[in-house]
Amino acid sequence: MQLYQHGTLANLVPGLFGGTLSIHDLLQHGDTGIGTLSGLDGELIILNGTVFQVNAKGDVRVVDGSEMVPFANVHHADFTPVGELTAVNDAALRERLAQQLISLNVFSSVKLTGTFANVTTRAVAGQKRPYPTLKATAEAQSVFTQAEMHGTIIGYYSPKLFAGVAAPGFHLHFLSDDQQFGGHLLHADVTQANLEIQAFEDLDLHLPLADPEFQALDLDSDQIVSDIELAEK
Ligand SMILES: [Zn+2]
Repeated sequence: MQLYQHGTLANLVPGLFGGTLSIHDLLQHGDTGIGTLSGLDGELIILNGTVFQVNAKGDVRVVDGSEMVPFANVHHADFTPVGELTAVNDAALRERLAQQLISLNVFSSVKLTGTFANVTTRAVAGQKRPYPTLKATAEAQSVFTQAEMHGTIIGYYSPKLFAGVAAPGFHLHFLSDDQQFGGHLLHADVTQANLEIQAFEDLDLHLPLADPEFQALDLDSDQIVSDIELAEK
């Protein structure tokens, strides 16, 4: 079981938003996942080999294979059904998910399919060069809320040890069943949903070695780690 990751969250903190891997190449490593497009343009939800983008207007569209990502996680779906969650509010959700993980010391994917209430998502607007910092994009985010939604929460748990590579804890995205609503998940109360989990023994961390900006970047900064925690909350 392998998790494939292109780029690191740390790359995004100082503003390395340029795409460095094509969607076509990304999909060679998995059919399920999350990410963002070049310029930090929206939020990606990858399900059954189809890549959906939610942009800052809230529009959802299918992404072309030639488009580029600066950051994404994918894996080949082989989930284990864990059971049903009923009436779990957002405040309790992450703790309930954590309790179901095999271990907090490995990367895992979680998938919830069902009915959710008070679903709040965000999507970042695409940025132009020269790119701002990740923190500065907070002002370029749109937030969307739906009272009730049938859909899928898909995302990953990352151990705290790997802060910088990823955001510690859960990083979850949402896509509605009608494929009209989604984004980076900020809030969802679970009405009823089936939970599936997949844990990974292997992390294939793919770095944009050919990118001159990445080559020259100073990533050895405590500020980068604390900014990740702020930006991905
Ligand atoms: Zn996200």
